[in-house]
Amino acid sequence: MPSVFTRIIQRELPAAIVFEDERVIAFKDINPAAPVHILIVPKKEIASINDVTQADEALLGHMFIVAGQVAREQGVAESGYRLLLNNGRDAGQEVFHLHLHLIGGRRLGPMVLRGG
Ligand code: 5GP
Repeated sequence: MPSVFTRIIQRELPAAIVFEDERVIAFKDINPAAPVHILIVPKKEIASINDVTQADEALLGHMFIVAGQVAREQGVAESGYRLLLNNGRDAGQEVFHLHLHLIGGRRLGPMVLRGG
């Protein structure tokens, strides 16, 4: 079964795409947590960081370069933003197709609640 993000890549599902090249796609999160909430997704369907191999090293680096470019284009490079990657159950990962969340456009508060 292709992931929901692969279905977006294949244009089977709609999305507000803000960046695309041969290796990566970036689109607006359907349920945004902030004024800017973009998902940066490798076209290669890697389930999670647990599944990353040495062969993916350049791809992961490219995702960060794309993140910086998208942040500039979305107008949050100077104000700041958070890159977030949920991995597995305890992090609340919902879609098992690797993705970076780029979140900004407001004060985001602490990264995680302490004392939990
Ligand atoms: P995770 O918890 O796996 O890190 O985050 C998955 C994210 O994907 C969630 O923020 C969710 O709102 C987003 N999402 C899930 N399905 C879709 C979809 O069909 N389209 C878009 N644009 N975002 C989605």
